[in-house]
Amino acid sequence: MKIYNTLTRKKEEFVPTEEGKVKMYVCGPTVYNLIHIGNARPMICFDTVRRYFEYKGYDVNYVSNFTDVDDKIIKKAIEEGVSSEEISTRYIAECKKDMEGMNIKPATTHPLATNEIDGMIDMIQTLIDKGYAYNVNGTVYYRTRKFEGYGKLSKKNIDDLEAGHRSIQVAGEDEKEDPLDFVLWKPKKEGEPYWESPWSQGRPGWHIECSVMSKKYLADTIDIHAGGEDLQFPHHENEIAQSEAANGVPFAKYWMHNAFLNIDNKKMSKSLGNFFTVRDISKEYDLQVLRFFMLSAHYRNPINFSHDLMEAAKNGLDRIVTAVTNVNELLSHATVADITAEEKEHLATVQTIFDKFDAAMEDDFNTADAIAAVFELVKLANSTTNDASSKEYLEILFTKITTLTDVLGLKVVQEKELLDSDIEALIEERQQARKDKNFARADEIRGLLLDKGIVLEDTREGVRWKRA
Ligand code: AMP
Ligand code: ZN
Repeated sequence: MKIYNTLTRKKEEFVPTEEGKVKMYVCGPTVYNLIHIGNARPMICFDTVRRYFEYKGYDVNYVSNFTDVDDKIIKKAIEEGVSSEEISTRYIAECKKDMEGMNIKPATTHPLATNEIDGMIDMIQTLIDKGYAYNVNGTVYYRTRKFEGYGKLSKKNIDDLEAGHRSIQVAGEDEKEDPLDFVLWKPKKEGEPYWESPWSQGRPGWHIECSVMSKKYLADTIDIHAGGEDLQFPHHENEIAQSEAANGVPFAKYWMHNAFLNIDNKKMSKSLGNFFTVRDISKEYDLQVLRFFMLSAHYRNPINFSHDLMEAAKNGLDRIVTAVTNVNELLSHATVADITAEEKEHLATVQTIFDKFDAAMEDDFNTADAIAAVFELVKLANSTTNDASSKEYLEILFTKITTLTDVLGLKVVQEKELLDSDIEALIEERQQARKDKNFARADEIRGLLLDKGIVLEDTREGVRWKRA
């Protein structure tokens, strides 16, 4: 498997640090608002990377943080007259809802910065002890020039950076030894959330969060560190400087960065105001369409968001869903059990298509070509099935298509509507389970019905139900 490594600017063969395992860290969002579809791009792309590794049999430890302490969160809290915690808790919950809609698997761990302050204080202390950091009046700075190799990820030359910085010096920065130094810990301002530390009551800088969470939940050296390309500098460059200075070993073997989602060739961002939230899109489209749209491009190519492209994505996804629905429909009244000789011949084509899918994904996760392979399978299913198809062949096709769409995280099996008779049968089963004191099963049935929007009401006359 080949991965384009930003660190070397080359496609490299993936060799895990530990056999059969992938340790992967993806920088997560700052939670002060609903996420926009630009933020959704890394989530969808790297969730697909994870799914492909899992499909290939790797055990993936996937860590993605929520940045829940930040100036923007504090500002929003002040505007609303509530605590920062209330803001971050609210938007983490909203973000998780959006992730579920986009079929993004929950991370193995979703650490919150505010739960990891002790680890950050420890790492900052280590950096001070090793001479990589210094405290001035309660602010701790990283001594950037001391880290050999600063700029190796973003390919920036430290002297050019210095020249740039000198001309844009901002107030309060004169206490730094060098304009390039960045903040590891800063003292609180009035009304801000704070934690005790050896240097001041205050809070951590943004970059130290990821260094600490990656070390705690994965290892000192991890396999893959990922995020949007705007994070290369300074965020990831600073993470490398912190982690490698503190731990004395390389931080991440492979650095992956997704390109931007643009609007009119400009990066979609909160600050430019040119954004759509995932929630906005969900009002018009199933979020599976958004996922399909994102995966239609290679993750390192910029994509321009447009209504036309979303419509094209909708049509593309519909073609797959329709094919799967047809196969399912034929399956429900297939009369021939065993695969026929003619059908067997098609299995060779299925194998060729699977090879194409793998080849695309092995080449730095080329999801655009992987989707093309799925379409070939759809075409095969449409052209080789009919009322006379065998059960076995239809089952193979169903499994093959859904195996590939699962790797891409696309849901293509239409859920059947529950008929009134199905609901009543389930209620009956629940009543029996209760009589048998099998409350686990009874609760499970209630939950199952609730998931389908069916609400049960226990009355003296028996159980009533309604569609919510
Ligand atoms: P933020 O909350 O701004 O730190 O962003 C969270 C993640 O979304 C980071 O990995 C960013 O690089 C990524 N991101 C933000 N805007 C875009 C965009 N327009 N296109 C692609 N990725 C983005
Ligand atoms: Zn990060």
